[in-house]
Amino acid sequence: EKYVYSFNGEKTEGDASLMNLLGGKGANLAEMARLGIPVPPGFTITTECCNAFLRSGGSYPHGYTEQLNDALGRLEKNMGLAFGDPDNPLLVSCRSGGRQSMPGMMETVLNVGLTSGTIPGLIKKTGNGRFVYDSYRRLIMMYADVVMEKAEGIEAMNGNGIRNQLEKILAAFKETRNLQNDADLTEDDLKTLCGLFTERVETVLGEKFPDSPEAQLQGAIGAVFKSWNGKRAQSYRRIEQIPDSWGTGVTVQAMVFGNMGDTSATGVAFTRNPATGENTFFGEWLANAQGEDVVAGLRTPAPINDATKRETNKGVTSLEVAMPGAYNELEAIRNTLERHYKEMLDIEFTIQNKRLYMLQCRVGKRTGTASLVMAMEMLEEGLIDEVTAIKRVKPQQLNELLHPIVDPEEESRAECLTEGLPAGPGGAFGHLAFTSDDAVKLAKTHPNVILVREETNPEDIEGMRAASGILTARGGMTSHAALVARGWGKCCIVGAGDITIHPSMNKMQIGDKTFNQGDILTLNGTRGRVYEGKLKMVDATEDTRFQKFMQMADAYRTMGVRANADTREDALVAKSYGAEGIGLFRTEHMFYSAGADDRLFILRKIILSDTEGERKAAVQELEPYVKEEIKETLKAMNGMPVTIRALDPPLHEFVPHSRAKQIELAEALGVDVTEIKRRCEALQESNPMMGHRGVRLGISVPDLTEMQVKAVFEATAELAKDGFHPQPEIMIPVTCDVEELVFVRKIVNTTCEEVARRYGLASIVHKFGTMIEIPRSALRANQMAELSEFFSFGTNDLTQLTYGFSRDDVGEFLPTYLEKKILPADPFQTLDPSGVGELIKIAVERGRKTRPDLKLGICGEHGGDPDSVRFCYKAGLDYVSCSPYRIPIARLAAAHAAI
Ligand code: PEP
Ligand code: MG
Repeated sequence: EKYVYSFNGEKTEGDASLMNLLGGKGANLAEMARLGIPVPPGFTITTECCNAFLRSGGSYPHGYTEQLNDALGRLEKNMGLAFGDPDNPLLVSCRSGGRQSMPGMMETVLNVGLTSGTIPGLIKKTGNGRFVYDSYRRLIMMYADVVMEKAEGIEAMNGNGIRNQLEKILAAFKETRNLQNDADLTEDDLKTLCGLFTERVETVLGEKFPDSPEAQLQGAIGAVFKSWNGKRAQSYRRIEQIPDSWGTGVTVQAMVFGNMGDTSATGVAFTRNPATGENTFFGEWLANAQGEDVVAGLRTPAPINDATKRETNKGVTSLEVAMPGAYNELEAIRNTLERHYKEMLDIEFTIQNKRLYMLQCRVGKRTGTASLVMAMEMLEEGLIDEVTAIKRVKPQQLNELLHPIVDPEEESRAECLTEGLPAGPGGAFGHLAFTSDDAVKLAKTHPNVILVREETNPEDIEGMRAASGILTARGGMTSHAALVARGWGKCCIVGAGDITIHPSMNKMQIGDKTFNQGDILTLNGTRGRVYEGKLKMVDATEDTRFQKFMQMADAYRTMGVRANADTREDALVAKSYGAEGIGLFRTEHMFYSAGADDRLFILRKIILSDTEGERKAAVQELEPYVKEEIKETLKAMNGMPVTIRALDPPLHEFVPHSRAKQIELAEALGVDVTEIKRRCEALQESNPMMGHRGVRLGISVPDLTEMQVKAVFEATAELAKDGFHPQPEIMIPVTCDVEELVFVRKIVNTTCEEVARRYGLASIVHKFGTMIEIPRSALRANQMAELSEFFSFGTNDLTQLTYGFSRDDVGEFLPTYLEKKILPADPFQTLDPSGVGELIKIAVERGRKTRPDLKLGICGEHGGDPDSVRFCYKAGLDYVSCSPYRIPIARLAAAHAAI
């Protein structure tokens, strides 16, 4: 088996199609080498080798060592250098690269091959001792951290890992010498530092820093492989749902040096603006620096050109001005790459003595807005076709477009506290937290948290996830955390240099103001501005590009998209987002809403009445309210189907608990309050989710069914008389047997005839159907379909009852299940295809056998989840129904499924 693939100017073994085997970095380096783009030569060790290595607990598969030596020999020949050679030493980098990019989540070791044996030769050759010792101290720091500490599973105590300790030595050294920047360190300073570093490494880790190039290389490769299972990488994979089985590749590449002096540099760029999508070359660079300096967010880099410049970096020299030759070449490569990949790319480059080298290219992470803008513009440019453009936008990304922004009105009046770089767009306000852990904790009780950090550090991944917004004092637009935040569409401001953070004291200072944990700030991530207190958020206004994109996607979509909406207002929002009907109108919601006191009071009378007569009277009293709500909604959705569900929830939810309410009811019913209390207690159930709810209620209190159905038909008749086209669909919930439908259907038919007669109509057009949300009714779908013209899968209850997981109590154990990987995902969020999905498939098949034109939909929460939407499409459903704000997501997901 082949484990090692070389790439160089003469012979390149891989290409971009081998992404799974070589990882993104390795595959794209090979592709760039093939395109004749200047890439330092090297080779990539496969993800299969990684998996074999990790599986065996650290040994390499048969044949690997020979292939490695062979590739190293080829690399030496290519460079005219030799690994470990005292006169002409070759140095290499070892970098990770998975199938899907995981920015900053895995490890890299640079300058491998520097030892006491090769240092003098390299100094002689380059005539630059300062550079050599600068590279060596970086190697020691990275290697000790990544290979000797992390890969060995030695946990850094109290955040005082070896890297931290070496950083402190460096900082203390600069302080005693009164130096501001790393650049002020002389060759002698760096040499002394290297000595201090190796000493500390040995004392802390109990092992000498390896002085053999071979040992360094072997250590670095193994450590990069092991970093696949590092804590950060695991968290990131869990969030992004990347399988553990993919593994990472390792790319070993000849070093080129951005830290060789002022004519050397390193940088990161995007072929288009990743925040806005604008078609301008966008990037950042640092002179005399090496690789990680830009992305690690330790130094705030400068813009590569005017298009990247912002208010905050006025007076900074761009690459375009500092090194025009290299910049022009970079821009030409940008164009070549975009034309070749037909995508926005994220590229890393290094300039060594004015010569440009490409170190990486990959499809760039972008905001939802940028995704959409780029897709539409590339389509207009003729770079991609319609289908590609539609697929370029992930359904979830639309979330961001519908996300709030800071109200421009309020913002114009507010005083800006400070500014930073706009790394992730949109607005956010929240309570401040100064560590990742605190952000996670705070987010449990407060929905809005702003995570404030000194610099953007991938270790903070969990806190970043939990926060609504992220604010940092240092770092650039291309720092890892900015990339990650942008990928998630999270509001993020980085490099706000006026902030002084005291994490140990849980506070920070901006100018003369102090802010403590829990204080509230507002961020405008689109403009990079920070405000005190909470500013109002508004919905991003619908722009025409979005509309056009959605129309284009709709043309490919075959499945319908409806909304779960219970009021006229919700119905109108849903319509504006493109809903083609209402798939679930939960009647009970009219008793929860604000100002529902009157209706609720009557409902309580029904529930607590003791005699037939009392109840009948109360039921009659409620009818006008129910009719009004239904009529308003039918009218708002004129001409579109509206599925109205009969009352569902357990009665005791509506029972009055306060004494005042109980007294009020007692008076209305003319009984003693103790009697009311007794009746309330009698209604308590030990398992209400499986108790007196849904159709059971409609059977034990048939008057209630009759009243609801009457309300539907009267509303329909009145609207029809006024020239509207109402399309009601009456839906019966929580059914398990066809006899339940037989019972209810009878009431529906009689009532329909009665109302039609009263309104002088020949008939009232409607549909009758049931929810399928109990496993038995899925299995008995052939019988259920005898009376149902449609099924709507209630996957909330169907999931609850298939797993036996109480919807109300999963919070207690599901997180543990996910953490221990007992379940791959929360089945209440993403439809479980193999259990719940199997029941749906059975019901579809059996139902359609009885009634070929049976209409099928889903109205559980899964209706707005892209993976579940795809499942529904495959299962042959006619429509999905979801909450109004998820309609565009469902539309796009349904289009993707059909393409
Ligand atoms: C369901 O069970 O999936 C459903 C839509 O009904 P509810 O959530 O109201 O129980
Ligand atoms: Mg239900």
